[in-house]
Amino acid sequence: MAVAQSIRCSHCGAPVEFKPGEIIATCKYCGFTTVIQTGEAFTFEHSLLLNSYSPEQMENLVKDWMRSGFMKPPDLAKKSKITEKNLVYLPFWVVNVEASTTYKGIFERIAPPIVKEGEIKKEYNWLVLARQAAGFPTRAYDVPLAGKIPYDFRRIEGFAKLLNSEMERTQAIEIAKQQIDAHHRFLLQQDIDKVVEATTTVNIKQMVYLHAPVWFIKYEYKGNSYQIIVDGAVGMVLKGDIPAFKF
Ligand SMILES: [Zn+2]
Repeated sequence: MAVAQSIRCSHCGAPVEFKPGEIIATCKYCGFTTVIQTGEAFTFEHSLLLNSYSPEQMENLVKDWMRSGFMKPPDLAKKSKITEKNLVYLPFWVVNVEASTTYKGIFERIAPPIVKEGEIKKEYNWLVLARQAAGFPTRAYDVPLAGKIPYDFRRIEGFAKLLNSEMERTQAIEIAKQQIDAHHRFLLQQDIDKVVEATTTVNIKQMVYLHAPVWFIKYEYKGNSYQIIVDGAVGMVLKGDIPAFKF
């Protein structure tokens, strides 16, 4: 485990802890957000999605999830034991962007093949997790942005953990661009079979730094451990491990 360091919050003077790799830190005493390297105030909109579940309600939600669907062992809810329920506010960059990909390619589904050109043009609130660690299903996460409020440290539960950003705005834009380009290259396969050229341009309209509540649940079933990740704002299961079983 990396050793935490700290700076003084330039707003209230309290110590603000951060770990190596973190570059934007939020004070847990006053909610002020600072760029660690310069000690200066963070100047982008900082938003928060509220968590709607108590630990008990989250346990009930998980048990309901275990009882539903065909693909799960019938005794899953009865025989499993929830061993961990951690609420974590994860940092995201939400990139509001207009993206357009112009392409040229070959349509081979008819004979003789023909050359086709086209454009994919879309607007997104593209979500980039502001942490280097992988493993979080951001593409499965349809962030309920309508519920966001200005960041308010008083709404963060005492038992919850708040993670800082390990990523600057420019890096988040770069990642969003790459992912949107890859997504559009996937979409254009509906129209052409072989890409000759494809160019994606993006127009960034707005960037929001957002903390969103995510529950990391662990449960045991027949001696093995499994994980479930649940969005804490609307209760959507983003990822859930299901034990293998035979009918
Ligand atoms: Zn402070």
